[in-house]
Amino acid sequence: MTRMICIVCPIGCEMEVTMEGGVVLVKGNQCPRGIDYAQAEMTDPRRTLATTVYVLGGARPLASVRVDNVPKDGMMEAMAAIRKINVPAPVIMGQAIAEIEVRGEIFPVVATSTVPGYYFV
Ligand code: SF4
Repeated sequence: MTRMICIVCPIGCEMEVTMEGGVVLVKGNQCPRGIDYAQAEMTDPRRTLATTVYVLGGARPLASVRVDNVPKDGMMEAMAAIRKINVPAPVIMGQAIAEIEVRGEIFPVVATSTVPGYYFV
């Protein structure tokens, strides 16, 4: 049995989760979304990865980025791929600046900050 707190909504139900014959059994959830969350956590946990990438010719050297739904056991692979990214300025918040491959899946790398180009006057 595994205890976990559902983080889907602010109520934060404390759940008891067991796997029996490949089936996930959940107690303590107040709605069906808790079952979906527990099932995902037990079989294919995912996380949002927030980090930075290098910006070439930008007013700042780094731009913050986000990658959603990365497999939890693929974080190191994702970081290794992101470390190789050099994006030219300008970078616009919300822009998909690159794609990375993690565990055979393709994920967009999305900028979460704006970095203007650096201009000499
Ligand atoms: S089980 Fe439902 S009510 Fe409870 S925290 Fe999760 S989403 Fe919220």
